[in-house]
Amino acid sequence: MKVESPLTFRTTLPELEGYFRPKSLDEALSLLSELGERAKIYAGGTDLLIDMRLRNIGNKVVVDIKEINELRGIREEGDSIFIGATTTIHEIKTSSLIASRLPLLKQVVERFADQFIRTRATVGGNLCNASPAADTPLALLIYGSEVEIASVAGRKRVPIKDFFKGVKRTILAPGELVTGVRVPVPQGRQRVKYLRFDRSSEDLMIVGIAGAVFEGREPGDFEFSLSYGAVAPTPLLFKGLQDAYKRGGADEVLKIVKEKVSPISDVRASKEYRMHLVEVGTRLIIKELLGGV
Ligand SMILES: Cc1cc2nc3c(=O)[nH]c(=O)nc-3n(C[C@H](O)[C@H](O)[C@H](O)COP(=O)(O)OP(=O)(O)OC[C@H]3O[C@@H](n4cnc5c(N)ncnc54)[C@H](O)[C@@H]3O)c2cc1C
Repeated sequence: MKVESPLTFRTTLPELEGYFRPKSLDEALSLLSELGERAKIYAGGTDLLIDMRLRNIGNKVVVDIKEINELRGIREEGDSIFIGATTTIHEIKTSSLIASRLPLLKQVVERFADQFIRTRATVGGNLCNASPAADTPLALLIYGSEVEIASVAGRKRVPIKDFFKGVKRTILAPGELVTGVRVPVPQGRQRVKYLRFDRSSEDLMIVGIAGAVFEGREPGDFEFSLSYGAVAPTPLLFKGLQDAYKRGGADEVLKIVKEKVSPISDVRASKEYRMHLVEVGTRLIIKELLGGV
């Protein structure tokens, strides 16, 4: 369905070639297939409108996916929770299902921007924008989530650890759309912690560190994972750190982490300060979740 561009588009985004607001997923996928590289998917617009104003993207036809019901909502499906791509960060933050089953994701969205941004920003947009400083990937990586992708050719699921390719780059091809993310719910007890170092809650993180201990069936059996934001071109995941921790505590864990992190200096912080936060934050999380330093 082609509709009139909102006034703001005409006044501030003169390079726009067209604006579509499909009502169903099938309609959206046909449009994306037809338009190919000319299409730009629009969800909450909190990243996209800035990119457009800065003219980081060339002439594009905007496909607004906010009115597609199939892409919305949070529901339990077997041992997982499915979160539709256009579910907003506010909806995740206020969901009792997320609070009880995925407490790390709850902690992460509590630190996400301010109320104004949270009510527009979507989880799909947060993943597809592929910023190294995005918050939600840090929890979704630790839970071992899968990104669900659709195109006219069919549907597929991709482990989120394989979804990000670099700064602002994902594995998505023209014609593909993320329909949602499927998050397995840990079966045992979970202890979680999210630490976000930032200049203010409205700003992106300087460094973000998420940690989780998932307890196993046997006493003393647990899996320990960490994830890091804004210290490499993509969010970083370290799974199965319990053996390193048992061998040599936080020092041994940090040895593994530091081999992979490669922060840059930018307007928010120097790379040295980011490395310092990695060290301090990792030790704090280990102390809180495992009692050691
Ligand atoms: C003031 C401010 C503060 C912010 N603070 C934070 C913060 O604290 N933490 C944080 O992580 N981010 C933050 N952001 C960034 C932004 O709000 C998030 O990345 C947000 O989740 C993007 O979602 P959106 O729905 O607005 O995406 P959009 O801007 O609509 O889209 C972003 C990108 O993803 C693509 N896209 C969107 N949905 C899909 C889909 N379903 N399938 C395929 N491609 C898709 C779009 O084409 C575009 O390239 C902030 C932004 C602003 C302006």
